[in-house]
Amino acid sequence: MIGNKHELYHSKEWERLLKQLKLERTNSDGLLLCEHCGKPIIKAYDCIGHHKAELTDDNYKDVMIALNPDNIQLIHFRCHNEIHKRFGFSGARKPQEVYIVWGSPCSGKTTWVNSVAEKNDIILDIDKLWSAVKSESCGEFYKPNALKDNVFALRDLMLDMIKVRRGRWQNAYVVGGYPFEADRERTAALLGARLIFIDTPKEICLQRAKEKDGDWSKFVEIWWERASPGSTLK
Ligand SMILES: [Zn+2]
Ligand SMILES: [Zn+2]
Repeated sequence: MIGNKHELYHSKEWERLLKQLKLERTNSDGLLLCEHCGKPIIKAYDCIGHHKAELTDDNYKDVMIALNPDNIQLIHFRCHNEIHKRFGFSGARKPQEVYIVWGSPCSGKTTWVNSVAEKNDIILDIDKLWSAVKSESCGEFYKPNALKDNVFALRDLMLDMIKVRRGRWQNAYVVGGYPFEADRERTAALLGARLIFIDTPKEICLQRAKEKDGDWSKFVEIWWERASPGSTLK
C-alpha cells in the first residue's frame, strides 16, 4: 500500500510500469529517446519517469495521474532537473527531491552525481565525511573505529535535515553502497527518496579498482558478495 507520494517511486507498480514504458518507447533502432531533449538515453540510471501533471500529496492515489502512461515522460536526469527548475512546480516553493545513489565501489556513483548535481544541491557521501574528519595518517582507506560514532552522528544529522527538507537546497543526493535491499528501501522510505542504481557491471568496477591506488578490489568484491544473494539487481 502506498502511503505517500514518495512511496510511489519505489513501488512495484511504478517499477513495472516504467519497465513497460521503456520497452514500448524504445524505437526500431533500439534507442530510447528523451521526451524532453530528443537525444538517446544511454544509461538506465540516467532515465527518470517524470509526471507531466505533478504528483502531489493530494493526487498520488489517483491512478490517472500517478500511473497513467500519458502523464509520464521518460527523460534524462539532467532534463528532469531542468524541467523542475524552470517551471517551479506548485507555486512558490519548488519541491526538494532526494535521491539515493547506490552501487558497487568504482561503479561511478560520484562521477555521475557530479555530472547532474548543481550549485544548490546537497551531496552527502559518507566517505567524504570521513575525509573531512580523520587525519592524513589514516591514508585513503583506513577508517578508525575510534571516530565512528562521531562520523555517523554527522551523517545522521545531515540525513535528518534532508528528511525534513531543512534548508533551501534543491536536490539532495545520498551516495552510498547500500548493498542490502531492505536497508536501502528503509532509508528511501525514511527520506522520501528515489533510488538510483548505478548498474556498472562487476568486471568494469574491478578493472577500475585495479587502476586506482590502494586495495579497492577488495571493497568491490565485498560489495558484490553482499549485494548478490536474493537481491533485485536490474
Ligand atoms: Zn534529455
Ligand atoms: Zn518530475
